[in-house]
This record gives sequence, structure tokens and C-alpha cells, in this order.
Amino acid sequence: MAKSYITEAIPYVNAQPHIGHALEFIQADVIARYYRLKGKETLFLCGSDENALKNVQSAEKAGIPIQEFVDKNAQLFADLTKELHVNLDIFQKTSLKNHAITSQTLWKLCDKSGDIYKKLYKGLYCVGCEEFKTKTELTEKGECVEHPGKKIEEVEEENYFFKLSKYQDQIIALIESGKFTIVPDFRQNEVLAFLRGGLQDFSISRSNERAKNWGIPVPGDPTQRIYVWFDALIVYLSGIGFGTDEEKYKKWWPPEVQVVGKGITRFHAIYWIAMLLSGNLLLPKKLFVHEYITVDGQKMSKTVGNVIDPRDMVKKFGAEALRYFCLAKISPFADSDFSEKKLKLAYNADLANGLGNLIARVAKLCETAAYEQTQTVRSFQEVIGAHDAYVASLDAYKFNDALSYVWEKITHLDRYINDEKPWELVKTDMEKLKTVLTHCVGEIQTIAVLLQPFLPETAEKIALQFNSKTIQTAQSLFPRKI
Ligand SMILES: [Zn+2]
Repeated sequence: MAKSYITEAIPYVNAQPHIGHALEFIQADVIARYYRLKGKETLFLCGSDENALKNVQSAEKAGIPIQEFVDKNAQLFADLTKELHVNLDIFQKTSLKNHAITSQTLWKLCDKSGDIYKKLYKGLYCVGCEEFKTKTELTEKGECVEHPGKKIEEVEEENYFFKLSKYQDQIIALIESGKFTIVPDFRQNEVLAFLRGGLQDFSISRSNERAKNWGIPVPGDPTQRIYVWFDALIVYLSGIGFGTDEEKYKKWWPPEVQVVGKGITRFHAIYWIAMLLSGNLLLPKKLFVHEYITVDGQKMSKTVGNVIDPRDMVKKFGAEALRYFCLAKISPFADSDFSEKKLKLAYNADLANGLGNLIARVAKLCETAAYEQTQTVRSFQEVIGAHDAYVASLDAYKFNDALSYVWEKITHLDRYINDEKPWELVKTDMEKLKTVLTHCVGEIQTIAVLLQPFLPETAEKIALQFNSKTIQTAQSLFPRKI
């Protein structure tokens, strides 16, 4: 059986989840569901990045022991996946023992390849990014682009470095030959331009003192901890047992696609690939890079005070509605704005009036006509064979285009019903009425199947209602919100 391993970037757990996390969970879930529906055995991993210095700082601020703090916050993320109907197989915490073993195993492999060396380093460090920055990467005010208002620290210490520069040409060749692909193209071109500009070796450890004794010790040097980024990327290996469960690892590695936000493209497209090359491991095939959710055109940030909690939106509109908005109204490849007002508009227009109304309408017609449903129920694989545009959109991670395709079918079917007027046929032409209803029911069954990767609960409800012999009216799928 064909297999696919899908991963999603693991969030820092120094704060509660926001709508951006929900977006990524939902997008990655659609990809995983799509592969499963296509008949591939699929494993979908996410987890939590717990070894970061900013977790230590946040825990100190909250006056809670670090482990307790990260456990509590990681649970919020794990719970959110359930609330969003995200079907994760593995939630790998990086403070677990099995992760430490994997992390140290890869370190040793890179060391064996001669790619790790010690050096005195002085640089500007953003704790928000957990990354050294060059002056040219900072704003005019000398602040990090991703973390305005946060202090940049000047740091000098002896660290272990990774020979990233050694892999520059090899990674360029991998991308150019299509062995490793970054989606979309413009992100791939950005990565290629960065690679051609030359790579600098990067620091992959911190002193115990600066890491506040938190994180994974460097093998053979108890005075240093593995740098959080080097360590966090390894979650994709630890979650499937690299170094701890050889059978599981062999079954699933490498990933078919890795899902990340644009802010961490470089880590995944370059650092990570170099680390794997150094360890002589197989490489992921694809990197899907999504853009950000903005709020009133601004980046979400605690300082601005515009952070949106996805759990509030789920309470108000339901998980399926939030999924719909994130997939249909947020472009995967351009920053898109989110507001409760926009969510409500989309809910009423597309879900209550569009899909919900169509379902209620056809069910009512079938019930009134005592229509008997006899069509064979088709699988996802059978159905998509006739919907090339939908498949092409999903293959390119253009979730919004795939959903536009489904909503066009909804609009067409509404129009068809208006033209055929089955409520009149019920009095005049039962034979024709049967033909019309058969068409409607068939179309709704198709719509339900096409919705499966996107709105799993809704798709199931519709299928349950329309695949039975007698179709009856049911509770409204999406009651109008006032
Ligand atoms: Zn930063």
C-alpha cells in the first residue's frame, strides 16, 4: 500500500494558540485527509516545541516550573486540534525522553560526517526567533522584522557550529532537479536566491547558562545544550522513532510533504535539508509554505492586542465554519485578512444560505415526493475521477480553488432546481419529478464526497441523510447567525 507521512511545524508553547495556528492545523489536516481518501496509508504528525529559551522566560514570568508550564500549554494545542476536527496521528512533545535520544542521535551522525565544530561567536540574537540576525536583517530601529518592540541581544560565546556552507551547491541541485520541491514557486525562487547568495555556518548549541539548563545536552559536552532550532526540526524524526523505534522509522521516513508558515521557510528548506544530508538520511519530497493571517491588514501580535483565539470562533460558529473560512477565504499563498465580521458574512452567505439551504431544500422535496433513493454510494476515489479541476487544485494545495469548485456545483444545483420547479412537478409529472430528484440527490452525494477533506463532519452528516433509502428533513446544518 502506498504510504505518506505528513508533518506540520510544531508551535512554540510559550503562549496560547491563536488563529494562525488553527490555519496551519486545518491546512495540514486537509492534505492528510486527502491522501487518506486517495487510499494511501497516511501518518500525520504535529507536536510542541518545548526546548526553547522563550518557553523558559515565559514560565519564569508566570512563576511556574518550566516542565509544568510547557505541559500545560502543549495540552492547549493538542486540545485545539480535536476542537478543529484535525485528525492527528502523533503529537510529539520535544521535552520527552524519546525526542532527546533522536536529537542526540542525529547530532552524532552530523558530527561523524565532520560537520560540527566549535567556535567563538559574537552576534545579535532575537529570542523571539531564537536566531542570530545580521544588521541588514533588522529594521531601521534595529529590531527584528518578526518581533517589533522586542529587544535584540548582543551575545558572545563559544558554541558548536554546523557546516551549512558545505551543502549549498547540493541543495541548489536538489531543488533545480525537482528532487526537493518548495510550493509555491515564488518561495522556491526566494530560497534559491538565498542559497546562491552563499550560506553561513550556523551555531547549533548554547551554553547551559544561556539555555538556563533547559533543553537537550550536547553529546559529549555537558556544558552545552543543543540549539532549539536544530533540536526542534528533529521532531519530524523523533515522532516516528528514529533512534528509538527502527521499524516505525523505516516504515514512515521520509515525509511526502512538510507544512510550514513562511517565517520558517529557511529553516526547513535549507538548514533541515543540510542536517539530513549530513546524517545521510532520505529527504522530504515537498515543502508547502503558507502565508499569514492578518487582522485588519496588520500582523497579529500581543503588543497590538489583535490576537484572535480560534477557540472563541469555534464556540460562536462551530469548527466546520472556521475550517471553511480558513480554507475558502484565506489564500494559502498570500496574506489574508481575518475578522469575526468576515467569518460571519461567509457563514451566512456560503454555509447557511448556500450549502445548508440547498441540503434542506432538496431533503424537503424528497420527503414531500416520498422519493426513494437507489443510487449506489461512491467512494472518494471513484468520485474525483470526474473532477479534474478539483483534483488539480488540491494537488497544488489551492484549497480555496477546490472549494470554489464545490461551491459552483452548489450554485448550479440551486439554479437547476429553480428552473425545473420540482414543487410544481409533484402535481403534474411524477416521472419527470423522479428524474429531477435523482439528479439533485446524485449531485448532493457528489458534493458531500468532495467536501470530505475540508468539512469532514458536514460531509458525513450530508452522506448519512442522502445515502439512506428515504431521505428526510433534518436539523439545519448551519442555522443563520444574526
Ligand atoms: Zn525575531
